Amino acid sequence: MKLKVASKILDANDRIANENTKMLKDRGIFSINLMSSPGAGKTTLLEKTISSLSSSVGIAVIEGDVAGSDDAERIDRLNIPVVQINTGGGCHLDASMVQEALNDLPLQKVKLLFIENVGNLVCPAEFNLGEDIKVMLLSIAEGHDKPLKYPLMFQTSSALVINKIDLAPYVNADIEKIKRDALSLNPSIKIFEVSCQTGQGLDKWTDWLLTHCS
Ligand code: MG
Ligand code: ZN
Repeated sequence: MKLKVASKILDANDRIANENTKMLKDRGIFSINLMSSPGAGKTTLLEKTISSLSSSVGIAVIEGDVAGSDDAERIDRLNIPVVQINTGGGCHLDASMVQEALNDLPLQKVKLLFIENVGNLVCPAEFNLGEDIKVMLLSIAEGHDKPLKYPLMFQTSSALVINKIDLAPYVNADIEKIKRDALSLNPSIKIFEVSCQTGQGLDKWTDWLLTHCS
């Protein structure tokens, strides 16, 4: 019975996700569902990405958090359209939340949309929002055991951004193991190694993004 309820919720979610997909396709907007645990650096990655790309491509952001508007305020300082969703305790975004946010965003000039999901390595991967691709961010400070412990996240993502590589001398993380395990779960996953603090590796990430929104 419980399983039946859960699958109904996912069916309803998929219906609205399909509406989101159609709406974004009609407008020629490429969309990314950005997922990670709390503190991996999603918002900082978005700040760096927007600073480097917003003069060449129209960008908008939907910020998902349990509470507060800190992240949306950070993005708002970069003068691009942003909407904050508060899930009020919910541990992931769903398609209806994104649909409401899309209705609030001025999308005329937007070609690239980031949906920053709630920080959580589990259920964000289970809910389709209507996005083109999922991207996940993992900071090396979280440890190299995460791919094998949270496989769905890695299996459903088109790209993995490994962040905070500047911390490598200070944390006991085997970056090669992260890459090996992510590729064993998802052989086609594209991997970037970056530091949002030093800027290392961000050019490869932004170049890759641009190939999706021309
Ligand atoms: Mg954030
Ligand atoms: Zn959840």
